[in-house]
Amino acid sequence: MHNKLTTSTYNIDSVPVPPVYSVCRYPLGMTGGQILDEDISASSQWSESTAARYGRLDFDDGDGDGAWCPNIMAETDAGGPKDFLQVDLRSLHFITLVGTQGRHADGMGNEFAQRYRIKYSRDGSRWVAWHDRKGRQVIEGNMNAYDVVLKDLEPPIIARFVRFMPITDHSMIVCMRVELYGCEWLDGLVSYSAPAGQEMTYRGLDVHLNDSVYDGSMGLHMEEGLGQLTDGTWGLDDFLHSHVYGVWPGYDYVGWTNESFPKGYVEMTFEFDRVRNFTSMKVHCNNMFSRGVRMFRQASCYFRTSELDWESQPVSLRLPVDQVSQSARFITVPLGDRMASAIKCRFAFNEAWMMISEVAFQSAGTAVYNTSPTPRKHDPIHKVDESNTRILIGCLVAIIVILLAIIVIILWRQVWQKMLEKASRRMLDDELSARLAIQTQAFSFHHSSQSSGEGSNSTYERIFPLCSSDYQEPSRLIRKLPEFAQSTEELGTSSSSRPPQACGSDGAPHYAEADIVSLQEGTTGSNTYSITAVNMSLLSGKDTAMREFPRDKLTFKEKLGEGQFGEVHLCEAEGMQDIVEKDLSEEVNDRSNEVEGSDDTPILVAVKTLREDANKNARNDFLKEIRIMSRLRDPNIVSLLAVCVESDPLCMITEYMENGDLNQFLSSHQLDEVEEIQSSDKATVSNLMSMATQVASGMKYLSSLNFVHRDLATRNCLVGKNYTIKIADFGMSRNLYRGDYYRIQGRAVLPIRWMSWESILLGKFTMASDVWAFGVTLWEILTLCEEQPYSQFSDEQVIENTGEFFRDQGKQVYLPRPACCPDAVYSSLMLGCWRRNAKQRPTFQEIYSQLGESQE
Ligand code: AMP
Repeated sequence: MHNKLTTSTYNIDSVPVPPVYSVCRYPLGMTGGQILDEDISASSQWSESTAARYGRLDFDDGDGDGAWCPNIMAETDAGGPKDFLQVDLRSLHFITLVGTQGRHADGMGNEFAQRYRIKYSRDGSRWVAWHDRKGRQVIEGNMNAYDVVLKDLEPPIIARFVRFMPITDHSMIVCMRVELYGCEWLDGLVSYSAPAGQEMTYRGLDVHLNDSVYDGSMGLHMEEGLGQLTDGTWGLDDFLHSHVYGVWPGYDYVGWTNESFPKGYVEMTFEFDRVRNFTSMKVHCNNMFSRGVRMFRQASCYFRTSELDWESQPVSLRLPVDQVSQSARFITVPLGDRMASAIKCRFAFNEAWMMISEVAFQSAGTAVYNTSPTPRKHDPIHKVDESNTRILIGCLVAIIVILLAIIVIILWRQVWQKMLEKASRRMLDDELSARLAIQTQAFSFHHSSQSSGEGSNSTYERIFPLCSSDYQEPSRLIRKLPEFAQSTEELGTSSSSRPPQACGSDGAPHYAEADIVSLQEGTTGSNTYSITAVNMSLLSGKDTAMREFPRDKLTFKEKLGEGQFGEVHLCEAEGMQDIVEKDLSEEVNDRSNEVEGSDDTPILVAVKTLREDANKNARNDFLKEIRIMSRLRDPNIVSLLAVCVESDPLCMITEYMENGDLNQFLSSHQLDEVEEIQSSDKATVSNLMSMATQVASGMKYLSSLNFVHRDLATRNCLVGKNYTIKIADFGMSRNLYRGDYYRIQGRAVLPIRWMSWESILLGKFTMASDVWAFGVTLWEILTLCEEQPYSQFSDEQVIENTGEFFRDQGKQVYLPRPACCPDAVYSSLMLGCWRRNAKQRPTFQEIYSQLGESQE
């Protein structure tokens, strides 16, 4: 038994709050996959590959043909389009925005819906055609097959089922991909019924106080619908004006005159989805008493739990008459925690007119307005009193303190990291060695508490790019990255601005160790790292077993440098000719003759040694580099001559490149403007172009084997006599140029300034991404490596710029034309290497020819 509540107090919330409309705009899961395939259906489909489940905006998993396309031969209803794509959201949602897109399918498709309609339903049986506030049902859709077009639904929809109905003329195939935006409708209100709003005449002005967006049946009484009272926007103080542009006076309010209600009240019934425990109701009322309008004098609400009769005891709230403020306001009517699935409220007149613009309910565990799928940040209705203000201030202070603490921690970490770096390069190597375990948020910069611990245990770990196991199967990667639907093989265009994930959505890290082992064992599975199954089979035909060289025949001369595996030394090798195969020895003999003048004299070689404390992964990588290099034979690839692997430390003996790496070499040179004059520390443009041509030639050879280098840069090219350039370093990274690599999650490092957008964002390494890196290498060569690419950008900014390359909205920043770079080389070659669509980038064959031509 409930007590009748009679009270003379009331709560008024007149603080302006943002309409729910502006905050409730979350994608509901067509793109993100939260909406399941089984909940997407259609009236018809052109073929199985254009079934409803392919109608997801910005999503193309490569399975289907890239969108939902109805069978346009199907009959058309007399009343309008028949074809529809239906989305079942499984529960009521407040939908404020829709997005549509056509079928692009990487340039294979060009179908889209120029116009469409929307129908919706809350129960799956009664369907309502959506129309805007001016009664127009047709929504302007897409103008091309790829751009996403977003349309605000004004008024918003409260529904579980939504149908997109393309308008076709039957001469055109239409295809659609769609998304819905909004949030869950936690209010639970399914419909309200009330006497139809009336018309007022104010100083000769017709003031229409009807519920113009009500979606139920209309007559003298409104039944079974929702409308302006639940549209998330509420009226202004002056009821003659409206938030909405170009509508009639009184638009925001539903109003009644007491002349039409002899009993002195307006009765409204609210039906809910289930029995709820109601705490309060908020009613937004006008109170412009100077124009004959006042908020209600009393509200009495009755409750019903099922189809049974209304409970006899109402809950009532009596309001004092406000003679002072004419502000429109929310009035909170306490509902006394009554259980009900329907509420009937009688609002008693206090003046000639009563006007309401919004009604909302609070039941236990739910919010009044449904502004967010997560705990709400913006409650549109706030009761502001002193205690609330204090709580608010307290919260703000707490937030500021937390922010300050975070800033201090970040600064402290930075200082600490710098100190560590200075302390010992070796220690840093160890730290860098932590295995890359990228989770789904690859580019979140938060610190992993495990990283330092893991790093300190190991002496080396290869630098490993994102999701390497996806390297050979882009389609598989894309399936894991639904938001990259359009970025399958090559994306022509896309207007999606969603920030992308770098790894598979399953969150499983792809460890380097597994990949390296599989490669080392000679498997041809898809998990290889920098050499594909194709490479392996191509190369395995010439599997040259590397000759073991007796260590005691090596005489160390000087240290040449230090790489990720250990030190590189210049050595004299005695009797090298005897053990190198004929084809190799010819080349070596030529050089040794050049150097030493006789076959018998020791030749100079470079010896790369694996450091003694190297861990298993480093050892495997070292062996892998040996294996790869042993199979490469090209004048512009550094030759591996022999190895010492029968005992530790492991060594690889390569040809000696007198002038060290190309980066150091160029940085120590100046550009000679006058081509004829040459001195040892000057380089001419034609020298530079010839160097670039040699790099292109080496890469042309690698590409003929389908070999992807992944780390092409001047630091990884070596310089011999007479500006001879050879590509080296098949181990992906080196420490000397640590600043060229970017650290993700404090754990893995990537040469992001040389990497294509798809390598960074999708973990996809191909010949075309090597071409991208070549463009950057060419830029380095023509700038004489004076500065790092994008030196003015921080690593984070480089990643942001990568996002711009992906979005392709003209905001991406390209490396500028180096001063000595011919216009044609820059515009067609360099910029060509950085085309967004990888298929449009030149091949190494083309680059090589073009560079040749530019030098003629
Ligand atoms: P790496 O371990 O390949 O990264 O090499 C480390 C450094 O050793 C390079 O930056 C070069 O300066 C030097 N270096 C490596 N290989 C050779 C070589 N074959 N000839 C001359 N210098 C080399």
